[in-house]
Amino acid sequence: MEETVALIKPDAVERNLIGKIVERIESNGLEVAAMKLVSLTKKEAEGFYKVHAARPFYGELTEYISSGPIVALVLRGENAITKWRDLMGATNPENAEPGTIRKDFAVNLEKNSVHGSDSPESVSYELPFFFSAMEVVK
Ligand code: UDP
Ligand code: MG
Repeated sequence: MEETVALIKPDAVERNLIGKIVERIESNGLEVAAMKLVSLTKKEAEGFYKVHAARPFYGELTEYISSGPIVALVLRGENAITKWRDLMGATNPENAEPGTIRKDFAVNLEKNSVHGSDSPESVSYELPFFFSAMEVVK
């Protein structure tokens, strides 16, 4: 079984989409192994997205992610990383497949409702960023 980290971003929490997004997770063979509502400071958001520090959108992205509450989750299942990325859809909702979360809920390229780790290496950084070992169910 693989684990991945999902975030429900501020634009989705603000529009009361937590339940709808968790429903997609639960009905597509992924188990919720940890979940919490958190708000990040700008500094914490910069830490989370440090891989993007050199990108032109880094300032706006970290401003946005720290603009309101987010939900952080650990998802577990077979091929959880890919499965969750597939359910999310393409980064830009204009390119996302019908039926994906970003196609159905995203506002735009930045406010695209959800995050998912893109590799086991990303999971190794992102999971302990949000959760202690005790907070992830066995
Ligand atoms: N993003 C943005 N402008 C861009 C590319 C990305 O605002 O040109 C934001 C968007 O919220 C995206 C996040 O930065 O989800 C991280 O980008 P990444 O390329 O890692 O996309 P993801 O892995 O989230 O699909
Ligand atoms: Mg990414």
